[in-house]
Amino acid sequence: MLKESMLYLAKQDTIREFAQRNAIARRVARRFVAGETLDEAITVAHELNRRRISVSLDHLGENTRDAHEATAAANDYIAIIERIQREGADANISVKLTALGLDISEDLAHENLTRVLTAAQRYNIFVRVDMEASDYTQRTVDLVIALSAAFENVGTVIQSALYRSSDDVARLIAAGVRVRLVKGAYLEPATIAYPHKVEVDKAYLQLMRQLMEYGVYPALATHDERIINAAIRFASDTGIPRARFEFQMLYGIRRDLQERLAATGYNVRVYVPYGTHWYPYLTRRMAERPANLMFIVSNTFRG
Ligand SMILES: Cc1cc2nc3c(=O)[nH]c(=O)nc-3n(C[C@H](O)[C@H](O)[C@H](O)COP(=O)(O)OP(=O)(O)OC[C@H]3O[C@@H](n4cnc5c(N)ncnc54)[C@H](O)[C@@H]3O)c2cc1C
Repeated sequence: MLKESMLYLAKQDTIREFAQRNAIARRVARRFVAGETLDEAITVAHELNRRRISVSLDHLGENTRDAHEATAAANDYIAIIERIQREGADANISVKLTALGLDISEDLAHENLTRVLTAAQRYNIFVRVDMEASDYTQRTVDLVIALSAAFENVGTVIQSALYRSSDDVARLIAAGVRVRLVKGAYLEPATIAYPHKVEVDKAYLQLMRQLMEYGVYPALATHDERIINAAIRFASDTGIPRARFEFQMLYGIRRDLQERLAATGYNVRVYVPYGTHWYPYLTRRMAERPANLMFIVSNTFRG
């Protein structure tokens, strides 16, 4: 119920505008968001790199309804790519198709993503297309597969919560497209998604095995230690070397586990979001773990 309420709040524009200007909310956001500027995100990237942890930079923004803004979002990503290259950072980027204009037209999202991929390809930088709510799943998978014919540096994300994901994984494996596997952060109806966490976790394990055996450099994105341990066991039982996959986690979550895995020789990448449009991202993090709300309460009393 709390999860549903938090995810409902994520979509409310008036609350978003209020929260993004509110000092306490901004302070809370800093636990999960690297800062509001690219300079701050790059500083965090260098700190993580020093601990042998790679990064994926996300310039926060989604559901753009204005074509100029979508084009500007793509231009921002091109500037990020240039900056990663200049800094020599061990980083790639994560983009959302609705930030690049998917709500306006598929052609616009296609054009903007193509520009980003062209810039990234020049420096051999990988571009991960995040997965958004289920309304976008088909279009995201189709677009990424279509562009993968021309670009080797594009991949996407699959959510174990959705019943359709095994088929999507099979299609992406056949196309040689890299997949990040997640549980899924959006509220979905039981007609298309597992309603219980135990089923989502079980599906994750199945998809993890499918990707580890047949996929191209899968990214196992989770903070769930049981799943991480199962993946480590599966890799060792089947003789899959550590270099053939990576673990991914979110900035601000389970830093101990990120460091432990990196220190024991696993490839680890941390997703580093930054920017002023952090409100929907923050509410999804709250929905995943209602205990995070206590963090807000304690900050409110300190503020
Ligand atoms: C790198 C990365 C990229 C992602 N990209 C996408 C995407 O493109 N599309 C999408 O739908 N989802 C994405 N997600 C989010 C994902 O779908 C889950 O919602 C999120 O990872 C929480 O699930 P979990 O696998 O960590 O497992 P859970 O079972 O939810 O959590 C396991 C444990 O992790 C810790 N934990 C998990 N979440 C939090 C939190 N918010 N705050 C504090 N502790 C927490 C807790 O200790 C918890 O017990 C991404 C996640 C990661 C790590």
